[in-house]
Amino acid sequence: MRLDLTNRVALVTGGTRGIGREIAATLRDCGARVAISGRAADSANTAAQSLGGGTLGFGADVAVPEDVTRLIAAVEEGFGSLDILVNNAGVTRDNILVRLKDEDWDTVLDTNLRGAFLAVRAAARGMMKRRWGRIINITSVVGVTGNKGQANYAASKAGLIGLTKSVARELASRNILANAIAPGFIETDMTAALTPEAQAALRAQIPLGRLGAPADVANLVAFLASDQSAYITGQVFVVDGGMVM
Ligand code: NDP
Repeated sequence: MRLDLTNRVALVTGGTRGIGREIAATLRDCGARVAISGRAADSANTAAQSLGGGTLGFGADVAVPEDVTRLIAAVEEGFGSLDILVNNAGVTRDNILVRLKDEDWDTVLDTNLRGAFLAVRAAARGMMKRRWGRIINITSVVGVTGNKGQANYAASKAGLIGLTKSVARELASRNILANAIAPGFIETDMTAALTPEAQAALRAQIPLGRLGAPADVANLVAFLASDQSAYITGQVFVVDGGMVM
């Protein structure tokens, strides 16, 4: 089965590096025209150029509502459409509950959850008119299980799951599908901060015995973005080497 995304336009938020960059590359390889975003226009443009294939880069902070509105409009204007929205931009501000600052709660919720809501709301209008759309939200296993020291992050990712299921129910009649992917531990800048001991302890909990690669997530995004996933909506797919079953 070859996944063919020719004539589709995709936006990957947080596509400058890590999982988002790999998602952008995979969608491009399947024939989609791709836009990526990051907080700074410079790094978004540099990443877009390195991806090639006509990829467009946009500076837009998903925690800033006006930026999200501008981003969606710019992609629709630049490519004439937006068919596949991947809400991937995400941050952590970890601390134990009693030390968690209000601002760290707000930054994580505004970026990971409100940013995704704003992008979905803005992108849905065009998808509804065209009667075709794919919304893929990158959540986390932590949104399913909770995690010590990550109350803000886990709440944002659990919220994304509720958003995904509600959007799936609301937009199904317009042929717009919404699904969430919950990665476990994937090798990116986000997990590079872990000590070698912490990484070894993690590997011991993973039946497949390794951290994930960005491609492990990106391949599933490509499938969920394609016509082959036409009967799948409102689901949460855990990609974690079997850590959570
Ligand atoms: P990275 O830290 O490597 O990359 C994060 C990306 O998000 C960057 O492209 C960054 O771009 C962008 N970003 C961050 N804040 C904003 C913002 N306010 N507005 C726009 N873009 C922003 O993270 P990963 O690749 O590891 O993670 C990607 C997603 O996957 C996240 O949602 C994360 O929560 C989730 N995830 C990751 C896991 C892992 O193990 N790595 C596990 C489970 C989920 P820039 O810096 O250019 O602004």
